[in-house]
Amino acid sequence: MVNATDYADLGLKLHGHKCPAMPMGLRAGAVAMNALGVERTGDSALLAIVELGENHCATCFADGIQTITGCTFGKGNIKKSHKGKWGVTLIDKKAKKAVRVVPKAEAMAQNKKTEFMKYRKSGVPPTKIPESVSDPLFQKVLNAPEEMILNVSEVFDYDYVEPAHTFESFVCEECGEMVVEKYGRIKGGKKVCIDCAG
Ligand SMILES: [Zn+2]
Ligand SMILES: [Zn+2]
Repeated sequence: MVNATDYADLGLKLHGHKCPAMPMGLRAGAVAMNALGVERTGDSALLAIVELGENHCATCFADGIQTITGCTFGKGNIKKSHKGKWGVTLIDKKAKKAVRVVPKAEAMAQNKKTEFMKYRKSGVPPTKIPESVSDPLFQKVLNAPEEMILNVSEVFDYDYVEPAHTFESFVCEECGEMVVEKYGRIKGGKKVCIDCAG
C-alpha cells in the first residue's frame, strides 16, 4: 500500500511550496497505485497521463503525481494530454491495466474559495503566502477522506505498446554537440543537428 503522507516531505522538497494541488496529486497517485496494486519503482514500469494544459491554476497537481508515482519528466513516463482538467490515468505497462482518478469538482471548488487563492489571485507568489494560511489547506487535502476528494474508476484494460528506445547518437559536424541519431539532418553533405540545419 502506498500512503500519500509518506511522500509529503519529498513532495514539498521537489515542489517548493505548500499549496492544495500538490498534495491532491499525492492523494490521486496513491489511490491509483493502490488500485493497480503497484509500487513506486525507479524504472519506467508505470506511465502517468495527466489531463492538465499550460498556464492555468493547480498545475502543481502534476508534481504530486511525479513525486509519489516516480513517473518523471526525465524518464519520459509522465505526459500531459492538454485537456485543461485534473484527471490522471495511471498505466501499468506490463499488466496493460490502467485506472483513472479525478479530484472531485466540489473539492477543487472548495480549494478555490480559500484565503490561499485570494493571495494567489492578487499576484502573491505561493512561497510568500503565510504558513498560517497555506499549511491548514495543505494538511486538509493530505488527510481528507478519499471519498470526499477523489473519484476513482474501475481498473480497465489498456493496450500499451512501448515505443522503440534508441541508444544511438552522433556528433554534429557543425556545432560539435551530441545529437540523438533520429534527430539528425543532412545539410550540404554534412550530418548536423536541427539547430545547424536551420
Ligand atoms: Zn503548488
Ligand atoms: Zn549542430
